[in-house]
Amino acid sequence: MIIVYTDKEKYFYDIHSLVKSFYPEEDVLVFVKGSRQIPEDANVILTIDMTLAWDEGHISADFIRDGSLVKSLSMDCIRESEAYSADMTDSPKNVLKRLLYTVLNEETGKDLPWGTLTGIRPVKIAMHRLLGGDSDIQIRDYMKKTYICSDEKTDLSIEIAHRENRLLEGTTDGKGYSLYVNIPFCPTRCAYCSFMSSPIGLWKGKVDDYLDCIKKEIDETAPLFKDKRLDSIYIGGGTPTTLEPYQLEKLIGWIKDSYDTSYSREFTIESGRPDSITMDKLKVMKKGGVTRISVNPQTMRDRTLELIGRHHSVQQTIDSFYMAREAGFDHINMDIILGLPGEELSDVQYTMDEIAKLRPDELTVHSLAIKRASRLYDYVADHGLAGMDTTSAMMKVAEDGARSMGLGPYYLYRQKNISGNFENTGYGRGDKMCLYNIITMEETQSILALGSGSVSKRIFEGSRIERKGNPKDVKLYMENTSSDPSVMRDFFS
Ligand code: SF4
Repeated sequence: MIIVYTDKEKYFYDIHSLVKSFYPEEDVLVFVKGSRQIPEDANVILTIDMTLAWDEGHISADFIRDGSLVKSLSMDCIRESEAYSADMTDSPKNVLKRLLYTVLNEETGKDLPWGTLTGIRPVKIAMHRLLGGDSDIQIRDYMKKTYICSDEKTDLSIEIAHRENRLLEGTTDGKGYSLYVNIPFCPTRCAYCSFMSSPIGLWKGKVDDYLDCIKKEIDETAPLFKDKRLDSIYIGGGTPTTLEPYQLEKLIGWIKDSYDTSYSREFTIESGRPDSITMDKLKVMKKGGVTRISVNPQTMRDRTLELIGRHHSVQQTIDSFYMAREAGFDHINMDIILGLPGEELSDVQYTMDEIAKLRPDELTVHSLAIKRASRLYDYVADHGLAGMDTTSAMMKVAEDGARSMGLGPYYLYRQKNISGNFENTGYGRGDKMCLYNIITMEETQSILALGSGSVSKRIFEGSRIERKGNPKDVKLYMENTSSDPSVMRDFFS
């Protein structure tokens, strides 16, 4: 356990996130000294005692191991009253994080590729400065000085910011919006899954009722958007292709009949689990105007698929991919996960080599995130996480593999508890990139989200953002929506 005492509550979250990045397998407690008792049997390996005197212009910290002072450090920052933005290089928050980073880097010997950046959207920083007129050199200097970000991640952020900027062209005038529909069913539940998704077999006979609830939400909301431009449509989950062909057909039909889709630049239906894909479903989607799908291998090793409970084989991935090509899909994404249990660098290389043979149009590289809600959490408790160096090498193999397939990085996000504190990166070829993914990352337009667990986002002038979520529990969502489907209508009115 790592204990961090401070004298002020401010920045608890930032301190916790950064310490956790260095010690992903340790419990981290941050609190005001004297406000709580540490259990006597707690295995405390490091105590950090921080004095946050930013009004006087500095921050200091003592680092104590086994009761002895190891190091004292102090850094100057600008006064809080003068810190008009937390993004300023010497704002109290940034100095505090650099101070912590410096000592934890010495303590652990670890360099974090993203430095002190712990948020989920690091590219937003590069994007913000790019739109503000900064050159690449200025952005690079700023990110390195302010966040101790590595050269590699700084350059990646800038490259993605440029690409995102181009892809967002024509969608940021305040007139566009995107539509998301959540289908919370899958063939079976994968061991690493932390989503609110359940095996479709448990909902036998009730799926049409669920879709009827979505129809009610469509009827309520469509009139509100009749003067807006629908730029992208995304049906996700779960696995939307667990729906029967007639169910997919009616859902697509409702969307097209209710919203003006004539300006839409893309229409995605996630078809992630290869064992859910059939030619009949692909034909329905193609006929309905779906432009982009995913066929997700996660790994091309059968033994790992079995270990993570995917219930499909590598051969099914290959067959489903070629079936989608045969059905006419020319924009297919594939997802892979790095840091899967039992996988080494050679397994990632093998997966990349096998995927290269298929030539997908997009590849999304995820780092494994271990969430308490997943069955894999217990596996990790027994076997530990993949080492950071290994994961770093895996990231490199995946990036090199994607680039050698002609795919360039176009979006990136991070998650909590992610293996090695890395990121998830989407790579695409030419214009085969997912606009919806970028819109959700950069928060450039409102998203109308329907179905259980979906979260609508309303962007107001001046970049103010409000969110409204539907219940995650499918049964509760259906009960609520049956009696009152107007929640999202009221939110956007
Ligand atoms: S396919 Fe995705 S959403 Fe479905 S169970 Fe597996 S990880 Fe969860």
